[in-house]
Amino acid sequence: DVAVKKEVLDKARELGVKFVRLQFTDIFGTLKNVAITVEQLEKALDGELMFDGSSIHGFTRIEESDMYLRPDPNTFTVFPWRPREGAVARLICDVYNPDGTPFEGCPRYALKRVLAEAKEMGYTMNVGPECEFFLFNVDKDGKPTTETHDQAGYFDMTPVDLGENARRDMVLTLEDMGFEIEASHHEVAPGQHEIDFKYSDALDVADKIMTFKFVVRTIAQRHGLHATFMPKPIFGINGSGMHMNQSLFTLDGKNAFYDPSTPDQLSETAKYYIGGLIKHARSFAALTNSSVNSYKRLVPGYEAPCYVAWSGRNRSPLIRIPAKRGMSTRIELRNPDPACNPYLAIAAALKAGLDGIKNKITPPPPTDRNIYTMTAAEREELGIASLPASLREALMELKSNPVICSVLGEHILERFIEAKTKEWDEFRVTVHDWEVKKYLTLY
Ligand code: ADP
Ligand code: GLU
Ligand code: MG
Ligand code: MG
Repeated sequence: DVAVKKEVLDKARELGVKFVRLQFTDIFGTLKNVAITVEQLEKALDGELMFDGSSIHGFTRIEESDMYLRPDPNTFTVFPWRPREGAVARLICDVYNPDGTPFEGCPRYALKRVLAEAKEMGYTMNVGPECEFFLFNVDKDGKPTTETHDQAGYFDMTPVDLGENARRDMVLTLEDMGFEIEASHHEVAPGQHEIDFKYSDALDVADKIMTFKFVVRTIAQRHGLHATFMPKPIFGINGSGMHMNQSLFTLDGKNAFYDPSTPDQLSETAKYYIGGLIKHARSFAALTNSSVNSYKRLVPGYEAPCYVAWSGRNRSPLIRIPAKRGMSTRIELRNPDPACNPYLAIAAALKAGLDGIKNKITPPPPTDRNIYTMTAAEREELGIASLPASLREALMELKSNPVICSVLGEHILERFIEAKTKEWDEFRVTVHDWEVKKYLTLY
């Protein structure tokens, strides 16, 4: 550890770093940071920097407000868009209590706990996310509008795809920060884009998703645009998902989901993992789809899932198994959206899958038909449940599932339920445009 610390200090000196931002993510998936000068870096790396946790939503009460940040030295990265002179770097931190124990309200810690459980069972987890987002124009005062930046569609090119320059800039910046970008393209909806980076271990990917959102928004702003990860900004067109490709590797680096001897080349472990995801999907939805708006995306007809089923091909169910096998054997979970807290969403999906393996939960047979076009009776006959239809329903499901609740621990669970119930209630009592349009002249 002394060596890693020295490496960071050397790198900071070498790259002329003047400011270091210490970052962490709150319970609700918002990236927070405090900037220190490079002179404080050594102290920071020793975990001696304190902050007032009572001012962070969902962290602590005012009576027990002292919290410590312990930077993860592996996350040291320079912001490529800042000047080279007086450069700015960042470190992602874990949050600790004054007595040196990990803080129960730190989402990164929640993920680490489930990863430790996986490791005990002999697995590491890999995640490859597909982040979608919209680019919107800003008005003359620089405020975001809901006018999409272009009218292009899936895989379109310039001159229809006006986002190409911004997207290229995002990709180059992410690459400078150590991302391996696999693909980037215009998505189906006007103004909608996707950038995919290569899978890696779950903790690294959760950190990367936070960095990704921050970089995409920063670069968009530099192009005079507003990037949003809101799940369904416009009614009537596709929303933005964050498909989570996931696989377990054994500790000697083999893909535990691959078994060339079975008809579909999926291992028993993969099947049980799918069984666990299916069993707990309605309950982890509150974590993978954690806003009121999330549930406007999970409706039929827009490539987003609304039914709890799995398939080798079809894109209407919750889980799709991409055709690739060998090291790329993976499960694509399609309901997460990019507004989720990636630490909690990944932790919950992993926990569900591990529960499937532990309890040998056999999944229902795959559904290869388009579920969007099935009748309710047909779905019932096949035992296909729906995902929650609202944040309220999702919260009820979460509360009633001890396996998924255990991922969060008491602190996060309590704060999460409280804040999200309040969010739902705010929405519930608001009079929306739709109601005015529908009823004002009718009654
Ligand atoms: P699709 O178009 O099939 O929905 P993409 O090709 O856009 O999927 O994205 C695939 C994602 O899956 C990438 O992030 C890739 O790195 C990731 N991936 C590949 N192999 C694995 C694996 N074994 N485990 C987890 N993710 C993986
Ligand atoms: N945008 C779609 C969603 O809401 C996904 C499109 C795709 O399959 O890439 O999940
Ligand atoms: Mg996509
Ligand atoms: Mg996908």
